[in-house]
Amino acid sequence: MDLAFTPEEQAFREEIRGWVRDNLPADIAHKVHNALRLSRDDMQRWAKILGKKGWLGWNWPKQFGGPGWNAVQRHLFEEECALAGAPRVVPFGPVMVAPVIMAFGNKAQQERHLPGIASGEVWWSQGYSEPGSGSDLASLKCRAERKGDKYIVNGQKTWTTLGQYGEWIFCLVRTSTEGKPQTGISFLLIDMKSPGVTVRPIKLLDGECEVNEVWFDNVEVPAENLVGEENQGWTYAKYLLGHERTNIADVNRAKRELERLKRIAKAEGVWEDSRFRDQIALLEVDVVALEMMVLRVLSAEKAGKSSLDIAGLLKIRGSEIQQRYTELMMLAAGPYSLPFIFEAMEAGWQGDFPGGTLANAPLASTYFNMRKTTIYGGSNEVQRNIVAQTVLG
Ligand SMILES: Cc1cc2nc3c(=O)[nH]c(=O)nc-3n(C[C@H](O)[C@H](O)[C@H](O)COP(=O)(O)OP(=O)(O)OC[C@H]3O[C@@H](n4cnc5c(N)ncnc54)[C@H](O)[C@@H]3O)c2cc1C
Repeated sequence: MDLAFTPEEQAFREEIRGWVRDNLPADIAHKVHNALRLSRDDMQRWAKILGKKGWLGWNWPKQFGGPGWNAVQRHLFEEECALAGAPRVVPFGPVMVAPVIMAFGNKAQQERHLPGIASGEVWWSQGYSEPGSGSDLASLKCRAERKGDKYIVNGQKTWTTLGQYGEWIFCLVRTSTEGKPQTGISFLLIDMKSPGVTVRPIKLLDGECEVNEVWFDNVEVPAENLVGEENQGWTYAKYLLGHERTNIADVNRAKRELERLKRIAKAEGVWEDSRFRDQIALLEVDVVALEMMVLRVLSAEKAGKSSLDIAGLLKIRGSEIQQRYTELMMLAAGPYSLPFIFEAMEAGWQGDFPGGTLANAPLASTYFNMRKTTIYGGSNEVQRNIVAQTVLG
């Protein structure tokens, strides 16, 4: 196993670094480096810049208009973007549904949907979870009944991230109640502008509306929007979740945020406290260990071995690390973490109370927000069950 980058890979990294430096808007990077609120426009502006270069689908093969990079190149690209302060690409289009459409969709679906995803023009959402069907996803009830050349969809999805911006949503729907629950699920692409679709934001502990409820009331969906075969959706869903969990590890962001934590600790004076520095050092060791784990995956992929069965491990460690750095940042700033000042997350806000600095403005809301990471994409408890079954045997 060779974990070092070759001279060609180093050169590739330099090329990406230069391009990101020249093309990432400074106002967006400023917000990311300071964990300030990103608007829909910020996220889509960066997506379109990447799209124009042909890099929004950075994990896509050439055949579908992607750069055809190997696993190491994809990792280097993600790392350079994260360290430069690029927003995390909203994954639902390019990272989640696109690979499913490529692998299981027909030519007409590929021609219709992939260009809009690759360019960043079309915003996708993920409609898997329902009230009562999260970890036990196969119990989902949202129904799609075939009537002629249409499906009629009725039911509810929930926790739909950024669904308030969604133009299309990929949904798991129940098309049969025969046999095992898994065998009656289909994968449907739904235009969110269709009559009968209602999106209701859910306000969270950090004051933001990042997730939504999505309701379907007799929504007519053309049968041509069914991906693959009816009642085979569970197979496609599992394929997609493997991609989601690898992406969630986000070791590159952890490296960037570790540096931010050090900046905050120095600005707040707790860097002088050796016990606090110990906490940061322990975190740094775990970030490096996670990076090694990611590099081992890359090395295996380079050698042609499949290693997705440790996706669950990456998700568990990555999400716990994200929670730890946000907690340490909040502890570093103490009372100046500003729990409920909504405006504090806007760029340019300095606050008017003593000790308030841009460095610590939104720390409490970020801390609250990051509680989600051990739940979404499959909760960590459930991931541990999967790791126990697939890795430990
Ligand atoms: C911020 C956020 C964004 C999300 N975005 C999306 C999205 O865009 N689209 C989407 O479809 N979904 C989304 N989700 C939903 C997410 O996938 C689910 O929340 C997750 O799968 C857990 O399901 P649940 O919330 O129903 O919890 P439950 O499944 O009810 O679990 C409750 C608790 O029980 C534990 N538990 C459950 N089963 C077991 C078991 N077998 N063994 C041990 N412990 C168990 C869980 O770990 C958890 O602690 C999002 C969730 C969050 C928090």
